[in-house]
This record gives sequence, C-alpha cells and structure tokens, in this order.
Amino acid sequence: MKNLFGKIRASLIEKDGAVSDELVEKINVNIKPPARVTADDVHIRAMYIVSDQVNSYGGCFPADEHRRLTEFLIDSPVLIGHRKDSLPIARNFHAEEVKRDGANWVKVYFYWLKKADNGEDLRKNIDAGIYKECSISFIFNFPECSICGEDIRQCRHRPFEKYETDSGETRTAHFNYRQVAKVLETSLVYRGSVHDTSITDQLFFDGGGGVDAPEETVSPTAPQYRRIWYLDRLDAGKNYLLMPAYESLRLVLSSGDGEMRAFSACGDKIESTRLDKYLSGLTLPGGDWVVECRLVGNCGKERQPVGELLRFLRGEKSSVRRLNLKAADLLSLDGRDMTAETGGARRSALEKLFADHPKRLIHVFETAGDGIGRSFVRATTRLGVEIFECDSSGRYLMTNPRSLPAVVRSVEKSGDGYRYGIAASTGDKDMVVSDSVFSNVVCREGDMVEIETLSASVSDNSVVLARPKIVDNYSRQNRLDDIGLLMDRTPPDHDEPSYLFLHRDDGSALLSLHEKERTFSFSLQNFDMQLLDRGRRFLADAVECDSGDDNEQCLKGAIISRRSHGDSVRLSMSGELESDYLLRPVRKNGARRYVFHKVTAGNSAPAVRHNHKRESQDENNE
Ligand SMILES: [Zn+2]
Repeated sequence: MKNLFGKIRASLIEKDGAVSDELVEKINVNIKPPARVTADDVHIRAMYIVSDQVNSYGGCFPADEHRRLTEFLIDSPVLIGHRKDSLPIARNFHAEEVKRDGANWVKVYFYWLKKADNGEDLRKNIDAGIYKECSISFIFNFPECSICGEDIRQCRHRPFEKYETDSGETRTAHFNYRQVAKVLETSLVYRGSVHDTSITDQLFFDGGGGVDAPEETVSPTAPQYRRIWYLDRLDAGKNYLLMPAYESLRLVLSSGDGEMRAFSACGDKIESTRLDKYLSGLTLPGGDWVVECRLVGNCGKERQPVGELLRFLRGEKSSVRRLNLKAADLLSLDGRDMTAETGGARRSALEKLFADHPKRLIHVFETAGDGIGRSFVRATTRLGVEIFECDSSGRYLMTNPRSLPAVVRSVEKSGDGYRYGIAASTGDKDMVVSDSVFSNVVCREGDMVEIETLSASVSDNSVVLARPKIVDNYSRQNRLDDIGLLMDRTPPDHDEPSYLFLHRDDGSALLSLHEKERTFSFSLQNFDMQLLDRGRRFLADAVECDSGDDNEQCLKGAIISRRSHGDSVRLSMSGELESDYLLRPVRKNGARRYVFHKVTAGNSAPAVRHNHKRESQDENNE
C-alpha cells in the first residue's frame, strides 16, 4: 500500500525552566551523543505535538496510537522554520503521554547545544515566543473513518460532515491516523509565517508517495498589526518610526532564485495579469528577500479605495488608472527571518536594500514617544499613520477617523442593501460583533472589510460598535489587525504618574497629581512661579476637581518618583516643573491644609538628578 504523508500543526510550545539531570541523562541514553552532555551544555524545551482531538484537517491521533508515536519521535530532527537547506539544530530525545486540558497529548522534549551556531538565537526566539507553533510530519498507512472504520478515501463519509449512526445518534465524521510508520521531522515555525492550507488538500487523498514528502508550499505572510485610535496606547518612554498610512493593499513581495512572487498579507498568491505586468516593468533590488509593500491604486494623484484597486487587479471596471508600489517593511533577508527584529534594524536593512531605489521607500519620521503627537501631525494621511517600535518589533496602525477591520461571517439581503454578520480579531481569537451591520456595499462571506465607527467596546464576549459603517472591502486579500487595544479601557501599563499644573489669571493655581487612575488636586492661592522656583512655600487646599481641564495653559509632565518623608510627600517631577517638590499637610485654624514648595539646597536634602536623556532626544528630533 502506498504510504501516506501527514502533517499536523500544533500551536503550543512550552518552555521548561530547569534542566534536570534526569532529562540530561535521557539525552545521553537515547541519543548517545559523541561526547556525554551535561546540564551546562544544553538547552531543553518541550512541545505538545499531538493530541487526540480532531484537528483542522479532520484527522485525529487516537490515544492508543500515542505510545507508538512517542517511540518514533525519539532521535527525530527538529527543523527550524521549515528550512530544509540548513541542518537541524535540535533533536527530539524524549516523549511522553500526558493529559492536558482534558485531552491526551504527546509531549516531546528536544535539546540543542548551547555552543552550537545560532544556539543562543534559537533560545531567545523560543523564549520570546517568536517560534510559537510547531508541526510534525509523518508517514502513516491507514486513514480510518471514525464512522464505519473503513479507509475514509473509499467510504462515503467525509470529515466534518454529520451522519446518523445505526443507534440513531448524530456523529461528525473524522479520520484516525493509523499505522504510523515514521516521523519525518518536527518543526518550529514562526508564528503565522506559514500558510499551509495547500497541504491540507493533499493530506492523504493523493498521499505523498513514500518518504518523498510533497514539496512544501511556504508562502510568506505579513505580521499582524495592532490597531489603535489614541497615541496614549504607546509608551511615552520608547522611540517610534512613523510612516504615513496609505489606502493600499498590503502586499508581500518575495524575491529569490531570480523570481518575483506577490502574495497578499494572508499569504495567498495574488493572481492578476495586470499586477504581473506592472511588477515585471519595475526595477527592484536583486537577491533573496521578502518585503512587505503597499500597493496603491491611483486615479491621478488620488489614492483609490482598496475595493477599487482589487477590481482593477481582477481586470474589472474600476476607478484606478495606475498602480504604485512602495516598500514598507523588511520581513526576510538572505533567508533570515527579520519579522522579530527591532523596527530600527528592519528599517535600516530595508533602506540599505533599496539604496538604489529610494523612491520605492515611504518616508518615515523617527520620534520619541513623548513627542509623538507633533510627529503624528506631520506624518498622517487622511487614513492615519503606521507606527513601528524602534527598539522592539511591535507594529501599529493608528487610524483617524476611527476604523477597524472585520471579516464578513454572514450575508442577508435586507431592503435595498444587506445585513452583514461580522467578526473582528483580537490577537489570537476572533470576536463576533454583537449587531449586524447594514450596508449597500456588496460583500461576500469571508471578505475582509474596513469599518468606520464611533466607538468599540466589549460586552458579553462580543464587540459592540457604535454606528458602524463599511467603508472599504479588501475581499479576502488581507490579514485582520488585532483590535484588542481599541477596547482596552484600562490605562496602558505605562500610564506613568503625571501632573497637570494650571496657573490661572486670577493668581490662583491648580496642581493635579495623577496616579493609578486616581487624581488628587490642590488649589494654591497667590501663586508665583518665580517665587516657587526660589523656594517659597505656598499654602494649598485639597479640592475636588476633574483633571480633564485640558486647557492649553496647563503645564504637564511626569512624576518620576514619589516618596514619603514622614507625613509629607516628595515628588520628583519632569517637564515644566523640573525639580523635586514637597507636599506636606499642616493644620491651620483647625483645618487640614497643605504646604507645597520646591526642594532647594537650603530647605531639604539636595534634589535628585533627573534623567535628562528624554529631553535631549526630543530636541534632536525637533
Ligand atoms: Zn466511513
């Protein structure tokens, strides 16, 4: 009988902290490396590779097959990112059957040498969650139908279809992987970098023919962006690259072996003669690279909606007259995955790659987080701004007006338009939007649409949108942005303590200290900034006041530290009030009041030095 090729994705990889001597001994016994290894020589991690739950291919590894699998797994190679051209760096050395979340799993342990080439990189990438998924490829002989026990290729049952059994109950068909003959490899894969539905189709219906497994089709996908509507979702202490956001199709261009291929953000090959013709007329850098681009459809100087652009690409009637391609981000260079590199490193490598083609690049503005508002105004288009973290790998799209992407789940004709059931993505999971959206825009199930809305929130595990309106349709050629941050009403983690200081015309002043969602406000009479600076003490009274006094006259800044000194509080502030100040309760005529003053050499301990770094960076960027 012809061998069948199976391949299963698992999304779990777990890091196990301590390297026990017992595990190390298993390496020595099971693998017998040329020289015995000790706990100091190796890194060990584990992955849950197979469970007895039905997977997305309709296949299942029944628990009674797990034992055989644990034996086959030992000494099988662990490939990294499916790179068959490089030697496996890690090896499976021990596997066991475990229970997890109510299912039976096979957990496999693998190791690699700390001093191997890229040994440390691998550890960092695993522990940072870059490799978040793993897969196993294997040979098996019999796909057993769960309904009738026959070879599911020959019986009438099909995976995921429901059938009534003789006993009258309804069961969903799947198949069991039986007669596993060999484990070919396990792989660690970049999260979301491989789009492997094409493998599903040939999973067993045409087999793979022995150990010559079918050629893998690995197509690059664009990383997921996080959507934001407010700049305060970003960390004021970090640096960012701001790039004007174009109404455009996110396109992944892959160059290598003298060939140029275009994929959508979700990894689908884009079939378009118009696009092929356009791309073949471009001069682009040679070599082996994957670049995320923005494909813009213009009519004159006006950028047209993505829906129009897609019609143009399909050769249909459209308002688009010409295409324009811009390089936005570097995903891979010379076979090296760049998606987890810092935004700064990706940008400089991209600029180097496109040194002879500078017009293909979109200009970026580098800015410190606390000066991002000003840069935003310079960088924004009518859509918004794309934001890349300089010193880490995060990617954001800030839209103004507020909009978010969603996928059409259901379509219903309604009056002169349609009612669409939609869902949005919050990182790992999709979340249904509570109410359907009415629109005249024609969409099909599975289409991804852009929705303008007044607000987004979460209620009963679904997304609630206020007056949503479909404004564009990406068809299926997109990858949904993570909208988790739009609905997060808690102040961001980096919500540093801050203050507002308002000096009013009548000579009074208001000081508001904001910390952990609480605001304490004090009113100061007969205030004078110069006298404060010289050490004058001012009487202050606690007042009820919402600090939403977002007045232009307000001085703002951060409270760098806040320490108690007896019953007084010492505040180190930066920004307009750039010093240490004391706030101390006093009793005057029976009433509780406060004294506020600057800490000077004369009246208390010397002021602590501030971190001036941020300021100077700010100046450099202005
Ligand atoms: Zn059957």
